[in-house]
Amino acid sequence: MIRFFSQFPELKAVMSEKQDGSMKIVEDKDVWDRNRENREAFFEKTVIDSGSVFSAGLVHGGNSEIVSHGGRKVISGTDALATKEKGIFLSITVADCVPVFLFDPINSIIAIAHAGWKGTVGNVLENTLENISKLGGSIEELHVALGPGIDVCHFEIRKDVLKEFSGHEEFIMKKEGKMFVDLKGIITKKLLLAGVAGRNIENDPACTYCNENLFSYRRDRVGSMVAVIGIMPE
Ligand SMILES: [Zn+2]
Repeated sequence: MIRFFSQFPELKAVMSEKQDGSMKIVEDKDVWDRNRENREAFFEKTVIDSGSVFSAGLVHGGNSEIVSHGGRKVISGTDALATKEKGIFLSITVADCVPVFLFDPINSIIAIAHAGWKGTVGNVLENTLENISKLGGSIEELHVALGPGIDVCHFEIRKDVLKEFSGHEEFIMKKEGKMFVDLKGIITKKLLLAGVAGRNIENDPACTYCNENLFSYRRDRVGSMVAVIGIMPE
């Protein structure tokens, strides 16, 4: 298990590892039965009430939704969730895409974003920050943690998608005729431009492709880790 924001004991921000099994929410019943068991075991281990977990449906887009008690537990058509209600745990699954945990400790607002390259260039972070502001949050007070994702060592892109990165050319590395993207560089730049303080951004530098303890879609093609954030109920 990987923990973030250890300076805030009231907060739980954790991510599973490969040994915990795949956590992805899928249609296939047999796969889902197994993944659901993995999730239940992980939530039990991390002392998270699985009935309080809300999950983003994940479409590799820029949409971000605000979540409240009583709503549906799987929110389709979105890659990011935010809430100011205590006792709600927000979750996504990742395997190479960067899990972005957000916490405003002054106003008790949490959010989580699934930031692959498509969502990142599709402004999933900006839209999540906008929702945090809508909930009364302060971007200046915001703490952000970037979990493990595929790093520039392994995030190769083809020429046909290069135009999608216009404005982010400084994060495209060329090596031996191939092109690689520094996705966390783009994410960090976007956060700083939006007003997040650099000192409030923490980064787990592990590359999912390099690290065998983590699932990597590009390396394994199967398996996802769950990333969860929530304020512990009093
Ligand atoms: Zn790597």
